[in-house]
Amino acid sequence: MLDAGTGLRALTDRLHGAPYRGAVLLTHLHWDHMQGLPFFVAGDRDDAVVQVCLPAQDGHDGRELLARSMSPPSFPIEPGGLLGGWSFDALDEGSYGIAGWHVRACEVAHKGGRTFGYRIEDPTGSIAYLPDHAPAAGCSTELRDLVAGVDVLVHDAQFRHSEREIADRFGHATINDAIALAVEARVGTLVLTHHAPGRTDDDLDEIADEVRASSPLPVVVARESDTIIVRRPAATPA
Ligand SMILES: [Zn+2]
Ligand SMILES: [Zn+2]
Repeated sequence: MLDAGTGLRALTDRLHGAPYRGAVLLTHLHWDHMQGLPFFVAGDRDDAVVQVCLPAQDGHDGRELLARSMSPPSFPIEPGGLLGGWSFDALDEGSYGIAGWHVRACEVAHKGGRTFGYRIEDPTGSIAYLPDHAPAAGCSTELRDLVAGVDVLVHDAQFRHSEREIADRFGHATINDAIALAVEARVGTLVLTHHAPGRTDDDLDEIADEVRASSPLPVVVARESDTIIVRRPAATPA
């Protein structure tokens, strides 16, 4: 699972009564990326096993970092109060084996707290996930390597080109930033996400039409409950 916003409630329904047993990779600890965690019914039960991974910072362990926003008086319980087997791992940049996948974590420019982008892959395909990222603030060599050649790049596209100033102020990307990074990295498909909260469905349809007409690579404007297949293209016979 990548991040844990309020949409996480829907995963409990999808599990049809089964407990969650797996990992949760948090890119960072802003509310919109973690507030679903304490309401995750499939994870908050005795037979659940949940490995939460988040960026290490300020010398605190993972449980302490999460408890900064998940503890009284902001919330009734601390992370340790969740039922089941929960672990909270504060990661540094690097490569890890997590829940059967090869996972690479890389720090990205954002605003307010250490933020990671993740690349997750196995022999069948690869995906990079950077929902909050300000490419205009500079991309490291490690970051360019993280996204290079992925089959699917899920990227921050909160703002339009005309909103450049506010994108920079909030530490987010514009749609053009996301497309430029995807083109440079030769990704298979770009998925635009983290839309500005005020966008209407009509706004997003308009954005989808614009990017389809102008982008040199396949672009998807993400919508709730989308299914996106991540698959490495078959090799072309020599
Ligand atoms: Zn954020
Ligand atoms: Zn965010």
